[in-house]
Amino acid sequence: MEAAIVKYTEEDIKQIQHEYKKLLQLVNVKNDEDRKNIRMAFELAVEAHQKQRRKSGEPYILHPIEVARICVEEIGLGPTAVISALLHDTVEDTTTTLEDIRSIFGEKIEMIVDGLTKLEKAFDIKSPQAENFKKILQTLTKDVRVVLVKMADRLHNMRTLGAMPKHKQIRIASETAFIYAPLAHRLGLYNMKTEFQDMVMKITDYENYKMIANKLIDTKKQRNFYIDEFIAPIKEEMDELGLKYRIMGRPKSISSIWNKIQTKKVPFEQIYDLFAVRIILDVEQKMEKRACWLVYSIISDIHKPIPERLKDWVSTPKSNGYESLHTTVVGLNGRFVEVQIRTERMDEIAEKGFAAHWKYKNMYSENVFDHWINSMREILDNPSDDALEFIADFKANLFSEEIYVYTPKGDMKILPKGATPLDFAFDIHSEIGYRCASAKVNGRLVPLSYKLSNGDKISINISSNQKPSESWLGMVITTRAKNRIRSAMKEEKRQAGEIGKETLMRKFKSLGAKWDDDNLAILAKKFNLPSFVELYYKISLDKNWLNNLKEFKVENGMLFEIKKVEEKLNRPVISIPKTRRSSTIQPKLMINDESADKFSYTLASCCNPVQGDNIFAYVSAGAGVKIHRMTCPNATNLMATYGYRIMKAEWVGEENSSFITELKIIGVDEIGVVQNLTNVITNELGVNMRSITMSADDGFYEGRISIIVRNTSKLKSIVKRLKGQTGVTSVTRVY
Ligand code: MN
Repeated sequence: MEAAIVKYTEEDIKQIQHEYKKLLQLVNVKNDEDRKNIRMAFELAVEAHQKQRRKSGEPYILHPIEVARICVEEIGLGPTAVISALLHDTVEDTTTTLEDIRSIFGEKIEMIVDGLTKLEKAFDIKSPQAENFKKILQTLTKDVRVVLVKMADRLHNMRTLGAMPKHKQIRIASETAFIYAPLAHRLGLYNMKTEFQDMVMKITDYENYKMIANKLIDTKKQRNFYIDEFIAPIKEEMDELGLKYRIMGRPKSISSIWNKIQTKKVPFEQIYDLFAVRIILDVEQKMEKRACWLVYSIISDIHKPIPERLKDWVSTPKSNGYESLHTTVVGLNGRFVEVQIRTERMDEIAEKGFAAHWKYKNMYSENVFDHWINSMREILDNPSDDALEFIADFKANLFSEEIYVYTPKGDMKILPKGATPLDFAFDIHSEIGYRCASAKVNGRLVPLSYKLSNGDKISINISSNQKPSESWLGMVITTRAKNRIRSAMKEEKRQAGEIGKETLMRKFKSLGAKWDDDNLAILAKKFNLPSFVELYYKISLDKNWLNNLKEFKVENGMLFEIKKVEEKLNRPVISIPKTRRSSTIQPKLMINDESADKFSYTLASCCNPVQGDNIFAYVSAGAGVKIHRMTCPNATNLMATYGYRIMKAEWVGEENSSFITELKIIGVDEIGVVQNLTNVITNELGVNMRSITMSADDGFYEGRISIIVRNTSKLKSIVKRLKGQTGVTSVTRVY
């Protein structure tokens, strides 16, 4: 070992040894063999990485040590994971081989390190992310520790992302948002999921991230004061009963607050549930449930509960093992406060997810996990042709909540929320699914598309004449049922689809549209078809479907949707003829630190970037380079699915080009509204307006105004000015 560390400075050695000691103190080492193996893994890694440094300049070895620390401290894993984490980059980056690792540490460690190496490699090659995603899941079903160590690796890389070039930051962040955050959620690693989401937001939407972070700091005192006052009477009652507990008020994550601002359209100041109060009880396992409900009853005596918001994951835990009793009550000043009641054991599971289950060997949750892992295997063993379709299915599965239903004999089946008797039939056996003719729920005949609820008892009637049909796909939500139905219909569909494909090809030719994935994707997306095969099939069923193409125009071989002005209700639509775009000067950009002039680039019409927006470049298959806003609704999908086509983009130079952008204005409907807005925009602000459409309903109007601006600061001042008009309630930018 001494001879090996020549490439390290004295200071490096000090730091490495310090970090290693810190790690050792955390690991729960049960025997000498573990101790010896950890030491050997450390020494091997120190030697293997001796010539490497991280982007930040520190010795590379600090990274595997930190990943090991995360495995222990933040996920609750043991020596096997520590050894694997220490070795996780050796095979990929150094001359160490898998054989070396097997001969020293045995087959189990070799298998995990091999899995980690493969995952690493999967992301290097320029394959679509869908394929990478599949690989991750395949290793997950072999040994979940591979994925857990990988998550720790990703967490440390995200935490130290600042040293990376911007375009890499974006790629890594989008991958994290797309794969790792949902996976962390599914594995019950809530802290990690939250941290992932916050770090992603910090990279893709720094401005709003900072805005909320600052506001949280500003309001901290006030919030703490409120929490103290809220919990004081609860504490008093609990102390009187001699309960042992911890109580705390925790602010919600920045990304979840931002989410709320976006979806509920309320400003920060109007979000009252910025925090949740958590009560953690220290009781024996057999008293847990009773103790939680006791605390619930104490709280609801003091603060009025909102019954619809009660969530009881103590009686039936979530399938990722999460157990907790959540209630929302009306606190002081009529504010809603969420209170989470759980025990120390439940809290550890909530914090550390999967790993904590091993520790407690909770029979119940083990079953639920097995169920999930098995259903994963099922998806992987029976993948659909279309990788994106596969991901859509899988993601639905990651976020779904479960219901518990019963067979006539009383066996419990776990199905995702929203499942139907047909899902249930396929869950029992594919033959029962194929032949499913009718279903009874709690003794009553129901349609096959009936949505099941917790506790339902289901019996299925089968008929040998029955066979799956296309419409069944709309009646099921489980991947298993979908796969089964799809594969039953596949041959028939594919053959029929060939005819549709030829028809569409001829149509494209006559329109002068290029036959490429981009054009096909535009059609599939517009008509909500999950794959090209579906598109072809649809056309084969109905030739008239091609009339839909009238909604598109063709420019340079590309299909463009012709936007229709929506006519609404009582107010006639007012429209000012559009000015020609060609009068604007092409904005100056840098793409991947090079002048963008050598690319043929256009601004994406889905998000209409304006100089000053955070942007990125996407190399599309047929239409050159497209510039999107970082917050474009399509961005996460593009970045995650075609990560390798993403390039960094920045605005440069004089702000002498013009950008078209659209604002949505909502306000109280009164006579002269349009005139007033038009007047403010064109006369007072001197802004060039392309079009304005208005519709009114129920005393309110909604206006869409398309304007031409130089940059985002000009845009901001326009928004501010419009917001100040009497009767205007909101002004937002439209994508
Ligand atoms: Mn690593």
